[in-house]
Amino acid sequence: MIRSYKYILLTFVFLSGTIIAQTHTGIDSKSALKLLMDGNKRYLESKATHQDQDVKRRTEVAKGQHPAAVVITCSDSRVPPEILFDQGLGDLFVIRTAGNIVDDIGLGSVEYAVEHLGVQLVIVLGHERCGAVDAAVKGGEAEGHIENLIKAIQPAVEEAKKQTGDLLDNAVRANVRDIVKMLKTNEPILKKLFNEKKIDIVGARYDLDDGIIGILK
Ligand SMILES: [Zn+2]
Repeated sequence: MIRSYKYILLTFVFLSGTIIAQTHTGIDSKSALKLLMDGNKRYLESKATHQDQDVKRRTEVAKGQHPAAVVITCSDSRVPPEILFDQGLGDLFVIRTAGNIVDDIGLGSVEYAVEHLGVQLVIVLGHERCGAVDAAVKGGEAEGHIENLIKAIQPAVEEAKKQTGDLLDNAVRANVRDIVKMLKTNEPILKKLFNEKKIDIVGARYDLDDGIIGILK
């Protein structure tokens, strides 16, 4: 299905006779979220279009990037956001770490995307049976820098222990919610933009089994 704003832009491009790489310029957070969720629906139904991955697109975005959303997700090889959301070159600004943990460098990356690239949607995407969260649930000694990862996820595990149901899955969800909350209140840039409703920050969970990405309320 042709996305309406893209259609308008392509019409403009056609009429003006120039090719500009501004496909997602000014896309609001709600439209960006719909774009991603529509892409996920195509992916999980095996109807992915693999859009924006050809030479034409590469030529367009070589001139500049205007991604539709920031995606913060796990480094897990089974969770590549461009595939899960059926997006292509220049569509997503991606930050990936084990357990989708956001450190200072990650924060700077998000700030850059919203401040300088004008991205209005930030999505934190955790996933089912996350190994990093599982390591934090199991506890014990961790080698090297893995220790830092476990420490960052530990508060979510403690929250999950107070809940009924599956401890690991509850910890995955708590970890995403904690990160969303941290981003919404992070000064000076993200808190201000969020409070002014210039950006939105949402959490989501990817189901490894059925491919569904569900928004966490
Ligand atoms: Zn993971």
